[in-house]
Amino acid sequence: MESIEQLRLAFFLSIFFMCAAWEWVAPRKTLTQSKTWRWMNNVSLTALNSLLLTILFPILAVEAAIIAKGTQFGLFHFLELPNIFTILVSLVILDLAIYAQHLVFHRIPALWKLHRMHHADLDIDVTTGARFHPIEIILSMLIKIVIVMMLGIPPIAVVIFEVALNGCAMFNHSNAKLPLKFDNWLRQWLVTPDMHRVHHSKIVKETHSNFGFCLSVWDRLFGTYIAQPQLGHDKVVIGVKDIEDSKEQRLDKMITQPFRY
Ligand SMILES: [Zn+2]
Repeated sequence: MESIEQLRLAFFLSIFFMCAAWEWVAPRKTLTQSKTWRWMNNVSLTALNSLLLTILFPILAVEAAIIAKGTQFGLFHFLELPNIFTILVSLVILDLAIYAQHLVFHRIPALWKLHRMHHADLDIDVTTGARFHPIEIILSMLIKIVIVMMLGIPPIAVVIFEVALNGCAMFNHSNAKLPLKFDNWLRQWLVTPDMHRVHHSKIVKETHSNFGFCLSVWDRLFGTYIAQPQLGHDKVVIGVKDIEDSKEQRLDKMITQPFRY
């Protein structure tokens, strides 16, 4: 278990530093806030969230998968499909589940208050990718554990998925430039930073679009896809209406925000 944690941390840090370097070399949009201030608070929130998960949860998604495997619990154990096929199908199903969960967090008012904190970041960059309210993080973990147990998803698929999801979130929140032609090609399969930036626009219709995290197919399939922000990437205003004070980027304010707005 410890080696899995180390592997995950190694992937997280390498992808984080690669995206941070990419943003630094080829920024897509001029930031409106102090980067140091936002980074201090966003990174502190990320650390707090991972600490909370370790303290509050006796088992996390990977352990749930190991238990399901040991007890032969869940749908996949009855189907007896080839291993590689089960892993691939599991990855696609988990990605669809995250898309659906994201959509639900936008549609149900109480859940939107929690998720809105992620959207209240006044700039979008690699640190936004892990800036989620602790209650949203806890709910996501519960949902993931239930899906993993019900389907009997193999532990290796859970590890690959968690690393990929984390990596995709940091990649697609990056304030970095991809050549437009390459972006157009890549977004046929994956959510690119330009595609996800639309989701962080203050224009309501754009906020509630492009819910995908890794695969871009779900938004096209379910009609939630918007190709580009109406104002263009240079001018698109990032954030949500009414939460515009830069004090709201402070750690304690982020945590209490869903109960004040
Ligand atoms: Zn969202």
